[in-house]
Amino acid sequence: MKAFFGFTVLFLFSLAILDLSSGAQNQPLQKVHGIAVENIDRSVKPGDNFYLYANGDWIKRTVIPPDRAGINVFSRLSDLSNRRTQDLIQDIVKSNPPVGSSLRKVADLYNSYMDEAAIEATGLAPLRPHLDAIAAIRDQHELAHALGETLRADVDALNNTNFHTPNLFGLWVAPGFHDPDHYTAYLLQGGLVLPDREYYVSDSEHMRDLRAKYQTHVATMMKLAGFSDPDGRASRIVNLEHLIAQTHRTLAENEDIHRADNPWTRSEFAKDAPGLDWDEYFRGAGIGEITNFIVWQPEAFKGESALVASTPLETWKDWLAFHLIEAYAGVLPKSFAEARFAFFGKELSGAQQERPRWQRDVMIVNAQLGDVVGKVYAQKYFSPEAKAQAQDMVAKLIANYRKRIEALPWMNPSTKAEAEAKLSTLYVGVGYPESWQDYSNYDVKPGDIFGNMWRGSFSRYERETARLGKTVNRREWSMTPQTVNAVNLPLQNALNFPAAILQPPFYDPKAPPAVNYGAIGSIMGHEISHTFDTEGSTFDAKGGLRNWWTPDDLKHFESATAALAAQYSTYKPFPDLSVNGKQTLAEDIADLAGITAAYDGFHATLAGKTAPLQDGFTGDQQFFIAFGQNWGSKVREPALRQQVLTDPHAPAQYRAETVRNVDAWYKAFDVKPGEALYLPPNERVVIW
Ligand SMILES: [Zn+2]
Repeated sequence: MKAFFGFTVLFLFSLAILDLSSGAQNQPLQKVHGIAVENIDRSVKPGDNFYLYANGDWIKRTVIPPDRAGINVFSRLSDLSNRRTQDLIQDIVKSNPPVGSSLRKVADLYNSYMDEAAIEATGLAPLRPHLDAIAAIRDQHELAHALGETLRADVDALNNTNFHTPNLFGLWVAPGFHDPDHYTAYLLQGGLVLPDREYYVSDSEHMRDLRAKYQTHVATMMKLAGFSDPDGRASRIVNLEHLIAQTHRTLAENEDIHRADNPWTRSEFAKDAPGLDWDEYFRGAGIGEITNFIVWQPEAFKGESALVASTPLETWKDWLAFHLIEAYAGVLPKSFAEARFAFFGKELSGAQQERPRWQRDVMIVNAQLGDVVGKVYAQKYFSPEAKAQAQDMVAKLIANYRKRIEALPWMNPSTKAEAEAKLSTLYVGVGYPESWQDYSNYDVKPGDIFGNMWRGSFSRYERETARLGKTVNRREWSMTPQTVNAVNLPLQNALNFPAAILQPPFYDPKAPPAVNYGAIGSIMGHEISHTFDTEGSTFDAKGGLRNWWTPDDLKHFESATAALAAQYSTYKPFPDLSVNGKQTLAEDIADLAGITAAYDGFHATLAGKTAPLQDGFTGDQQFFIAFGQNWGSKVREPALRQQVLTDPHAPAQYRAETVRNVDAWYKAFDVKPGEALYLPPNERVVIW
């Protein structure tokens, strides 16, 4: 489950943490094959702050560009990937592909967003019919229908971990908890525009201040769209969102699979969550015939449904109108896009200016037609040799993982057999998928960016709902090849390593094994071990939700993971904000298990010999520094605060510092008691 690197782009036009500082062209980031010695800060003791030791000099000389909330290794590679994708799109545009082809769709979609003059000239016209339809809602029945019409396949509980939708609810189509061979409808809480319930309910001064600014922003948008009494409407909209937020589960609660396992039949909605006219809601959503769902957060469905009945109709209509305007502000005239950026870009992430238009356009094409460009990308930038080498590395890591499990002294043979069954059926996708997404139901029109975005999200919804009840394709991917990330798909028992992460500095066929295992090896190990984190360990080899642990083994696992959660909860990025070790636990387990598996993998390549020194560093030192350098980053305060609250991953520094749990790290850097990261051997957490 879960992508390797989080901080999902909640706000397409403002929030991505990406870097444009290097000015590099279409070239790989790194020319040296090995650790980046020039990034090390030798004035810092590794045992005091390993993150700063590995990255300090890079941090000192790096300035966050004004259009970014922060920068890191992932964002620098994403920039490279975006530039390449942009070049591919330009080539597609120039080739004038035949009308109706998927390449034509790419060209028309891209051009429709670049044509700013047309967007200004069209004004609010494309939005008008939708606003008129909202204004015409006369009663609860019609409101339920309209709310149903907003349902989209825009959340993802376990793969890319996205629990956020501004619509009342969100749909996730995935293999069933108890029927992993068939696609099932999962329904998730929604209704908030701000990133998480914490933004509404937290009493901190920082959040109170943000809420006041948010309400001003809502009023600005309503005013721009021509509504009377924008301040009054904004106050009622924000108040309704506050009430919705109070019904929501926290992110840490959302990650508890057992609490999410709530099968509801259609009749149970009216019985257990009265208020909303559910028949009309599902009719509006176009899925009136679906009879079985899994409801992730029953109390939110109960609470939100009750709010539909108890809150005045006019307030819901304003809420619908505002959510619509906000969702499409980025493709409306400049005044809307700028107002949106002023709040979501500046206030919520700290970026000072919008990213160049072409970059936002590449993100649009990736979001709507990602596989069309991805197929071309994979052909051009991922060789069969690179694929074979990466596959070989994953296979070695899985073999080492298996050995580790076999050797675990605390685990019973029956649990070991189940764990090994998971490893032996694990599907590992490397580079690009075996089959590509079919976008034939997506109608792209030249010069109609609003309509293209609208139809894009709707065609995705139609593709997803059409799969309900059908047989699961376990080899299907959830990331495009041009994505700099990796992911474990627990319900498919599968891993995806896209082409764009399999390049320097993460993976360099010319670098020493110490460095490749420290960098990409720990990422591969991380994804493999998600199979056995707090969430992954609840699914069996077929992806079914089943407890396959003996009580003793489960007890041991839970006490070891509780110790890791406690360790992370001591980290405080700000005096008023701590890391929530429970919220980040699954990722923290994966990081720790990942580096452990990678370390074994590195040593297996040595076959008892000593690794050659490079720049005076031993093999083990290179391994740990390469791992630490995965995490070099610089983030603006609002974005880092947002990450702590909404990301299942801990901030980069603490991910790097999990080395303090690994015995070999102490030896490699001669770390002694009294140094800040030092843990006595009995406090080092060992899970796998
Ligand atoms: Zn992960």
